[in-house]
Amino acid sequence: MRMSTPEGKLIIFSAPSGSGKSTLVQYLITTVPGFAFSISATSRAPRGQEQDGVDYYFLSNESFNTYVSEGAFLEWEEVYPGACYGTLRSEVEKSWAAGDAVAFDIDVVGGKNLKAEYGDRALALFIQAPSIEELERRLIARGTDSNDKIKQRIEKASWEMEQSHFFDHIIINDDLDRAKAEAKKLLIEFLAQ
Ligand code: 5GP
Repeated sequence: MRMSTPEGKLIIFSAPSGSGKSTLVQYLITTVPGFAFSISATSRAPRGQEQDGVDYYFLSNESFNTYVSEGAFLEWEEVYPGACYGTLRSEVEKSWAAGDAVAFDIDVVGGKNLKAEYGDRALALFIQAPSIEELERRLIARGTDSNDKIKQRIEKASWEMEQSHFFDHIIINDDLDRAKAEAKKLLIEFLAQ
């Protein structure tokens, strides 16, 4: 991986989708200073109220591929068939240049790769739903995905749960308040190091 600008810290949040990661991440960004989220680029279409440049940079397949060939991504994955997601180098460099740590909401493969690459400079948190059944219930309740998409995500989640040991900490999100407190403590300790 190519790198410029002063290198700072990284915080990785990975989880099977529907594990409550987004709620946790929203809480941390409003309560813990000193870090900023990298906005990823994706080739999937916006969902619900999602906005370009806020939730993601929404790109066509063609533009996404152009970014890939230009080397604009620190990492990228085809997370679901036909849906690519990537971390832009420019996002990471922007945070580091401002003296902030940079945080990633990233799939399990991407999280594992970044942790392997950055070692102790990265805090890698795996957010886990209590069970696959609970995960399915949450995805259905969210109401933003088709049945096929939900099935796809559940299948993937089973495999992802087996990768949790590659991360520094596993936060089991069975009780949101407890999970928030645990993540906040780990984050504050890491940023203070
Ligand atoms: P969703 O479509 O639900 O927003 O995201 C699907 C998955 O893509 C989530 O697991 C999310 O963490 C992951 N993801 C989002 N941005 C990136 C990225 O930049 N790189 C990788 N590898 N995964 C990402």
